[in-house]
Amino acid sequence: MRRPRSVVIVGAGVSGLSAAFELEKEGYNTQVVELQNRVGGRTKTLRAGFSDGLHAEAWETKNKYYSDKYYPGWNSNLPAEERNKVDGILDLYKRTFNPLKADVEAFIDKYGAQIGWQKWVDKWSKLSVNDFLRTTIGAELTCIYRPWPEIAIRGYQVATYSPAFDTSLVEYYREELGQWWTEWLETPVDGMDTIAKHFLKPHKLEQKTIDLSTKISFGVKIEKVVKINKNKVSVEGRNVVTGEIKTFLADAVILTVPLTILRQMDIKLGENYRKAIGYINYQPSTKVALQCRTRFWEKEVGQGGFTKTDLPIGQLHYPSPNDPPPMNERGILVVYTWEQDALIFGSQPQSEAIESAVRQVSKIHPEMKNEFEVGMVQAWFSDHSSQGAYACLKPFQYNEGMKTLMTPDHPIYLAGEAISYTNGWIQGAIESGLNAAFHLYSYDHCQKHK
Ligand SMILES: Cc1cc2nc3c(=O)[nH]c(=O)nc-3n(C[C@H](O)[C@H](O)[C@H](O)COP(=O)(O)OP(=O)(O)OC[C@H]3O[C@@H](n4cnc5c(N)ncnc54)[C@H](O)[C@@H]3O)c2cc1C
Repeated sequence: MRRPRSVVIVGAGVSGLSAAFELEKEGYNTQVVELQNRVGGRTKTLRAGFSDGLHAEAWETKNKYYSDKYYPGWNSNLPAEERNKVDGILDLYKRTFNPLKADVEAFIDKYGAQIGWQKWVDKWSKLSVNDFLRTTIGAELTCIYRPWPEIAIRGYQVATYSPAFDTSLVEYYREELGQWWTEWLETPVDGMDTIAKHFLKPHKLEQKTIDLSTKISFGVKIEKVVKINKNKVSVEGRNVVTGEIKTFLADAVILTVPLTILRQMDIKLGENYRKAIGYINYQPSTKVALQCRTRFWEKEVGQGGFTKTDLPIGQLHYPSPNDPPPMNERGILVVYTWEQDALIFGSQPQSEAIESAVRQVSKIHPEMKNEFEVGMVQAWFSDHSSQGAYACLKPFQYNEGMKTLMTPDHPIYLAGEAISYTNGWIQGAIESGLNAAFHLYSYDHCQKHK
């Protein structure tokens, strides 16, 4: 490289920190600019583990029993000879979706992993989960199991708390394909935010020490990015307390803020980028944390896992055995909602949302009425630093939006969980940060050898 190159990274979430760390390793001079006065962005409140859902577990062992009892007629679409073979709605789901798995494998066998995967994504991201279950589109993949009767769809949505069936089929099914929800999924013992905080510790490498804590400007809201020429950008922001304007000049910029925020920045991007930024869907999610005097539920349901309900509280999460050991008898139950339910809880005054959550949880655990002490609401769509929980693609949004956003436009690079195949996960944030760093490094490397 000709000289240490300077890069401004907007956002000190996991994505921005990953990009900064990698670039520092390669000799770049990075400056991270962050709106808030802490690192970690959306990893803020994630202290809950993901064990298998209690309700889903019960369903898995007595699947046909629950399906027949609560959703009679769930198998009415099946030919008579299949009805006894299918062991309830969850089994129907597996049988219906398995051909998709076989289809990825066929694409990968034919075209290799990278191109095969992209071709599969291209094909199936045009459909929603609804399209797939309610019709026989893509019928070359069997299917004696489709279309599903409405009652089976309802049963599946309640048993697994899956309110977003208008999501792209790929967005939905990738989690299953990658087996992300398994018993191997772990939560850091001291909470998710320790991942981001870890970047702030000095890291001794063979030839140097990287200390990102010296590289971050906190409390600055970036509002404008100007591409001065092919190798120079100006990134302008405002100190959120004093209002003072700050300008950062650099050779490149990596923007890791959510697309909802990027859309509001003053930045000249090509029409295809602007369209894509406004087009990608963000899912709302609201959590209501309810502190209780004792962990009364443990006698009944043990530790960890979810109860899935058809109430507006959606799913109720129990503290995991991996959470830090409690200091006393108290415990926190978390109501974890998505979509419409998230809008319901997130749009009410906190006190009303908490009251409503307590009332609903009491229907499942009557002790709640006496045990509840204090609550807190986190609605990600109305949090100014995220303005949505995470990208959740609808049909065609990959083909007509995400592909564009994944292509860098030097010297402006986009990253953040949305710009990945793993939206809505920390892995996606890391993946996107590393990708942006890699693309920038590759660009510079090519320039050097021209
Ligand atoms: C409710 C919920 C539950 C989740 N559960 C899990 C889970 O269990 N497991 C998992 O792996 N992932 C989970 N995720 C996803 C994970 O939290 C995110 O994918 C990840 O944290 C996103 O990181 P990021 O760096 O892309 O974005 P962010 O963390 O949002 O970082 C962007 C940063 O940019 C800053 N910023 C915003 N605007 C500006 C501006 N104008 N100027 C400067 N800075 C700005 C923000 O303050 C923020 O710090 C969950 C997310 C949510 C919302």
